[in-house]
Amino acid sequence: MTSAPWTATILTLYPEMFPGPLGISLSGDALARGTWALDARQIREHGIGRHRAVDDTPSGGGAGMVLRCDVLGAAIDAVAAPADTRPRLLMSPRGRPLTQHRVRELAEGPGIVVVCGRFEGVDERVIAARNLEEVSIGDYILSGGEMAAMVVLDACIRLLPGVMGKSVSGEEESFEGGLLEYPHYTRPREWEGRAIPEILNGGNHGAIARWRRDEARRITRERRPDLLGPSVSSPIKR
Ligand code: SAH
Repeated sequence: MTSAPWTATILTLYPEMFPGPLGISLSGDALARGTWALDARQIREHGIGRHRAVDDTPSGGGAGMVLRCDVLGAAIDAVAAPADTRPRLLMSPRGRPLTQHRVRELAEGPGIVVVCGRFEGVDERVIAARNLEEVSIGDYILSGGEMAAMVVLDACIRLLPGVMGKSVSGEEESFEGGLLEYPHYTRPREWEGRAIPEILNGGNHGAIARWRRDEARRITRERRPDLLGPSVSSPIKR
């Protein structure tokens, strides 16, 4: 590879969690080949005082601890030079929910810098001061941003050139066409009294494509009508 690999810099209190599951299978092979590079950094290196403190009690009181803005600011400044154009993500349940569209944009760029929160979260001031994009992986609370960062990485890495065997498999997947994917089947033709839909055994590629499109629409309508946009029956709000 001649150009610089897609590079993920992770700021975390647990760098030993990486690459973790990203070290095996598709992403692991791609890491070994140098398609992407991983740079997991210990936030505590920028901690305060002899004990390298990274957190403190919440201003205004309340439970838990908050990651300090001066510590995180220094950790970010140590990895992201002014010329570094990589988006800076902060994993956060308050963030914009991750979408395949955003994943694709991130995969097409030079890489990402990801800040993993812990405890109650991070001091609000560092988010604005370092232009952090808050990203959520769903409406539930994890104990830290590391697994959320791995989700973002996994989704991006599989889209990097040469990582997926057949690149067409990326284009037909759920969300790519604004729809959930059609059902899959493979041998045996009959299993526990359940047969593969007859049309898939026929070899009529036009009919199969139509069936798949209709199934994708049906499943999307049933499970995720929000993906189809505002329905005709609901009034459009201006
Ligand atoms: N007190 C916070 C939750 C903190 S959870 C709140 O109520 O919003 C600790 C850390 O885990 C967060 O700082 C974040 O980095 C990570 N995290 C938890 N849930 C997440 C989610 N759904 N998506 C992304 N990151 C999450």
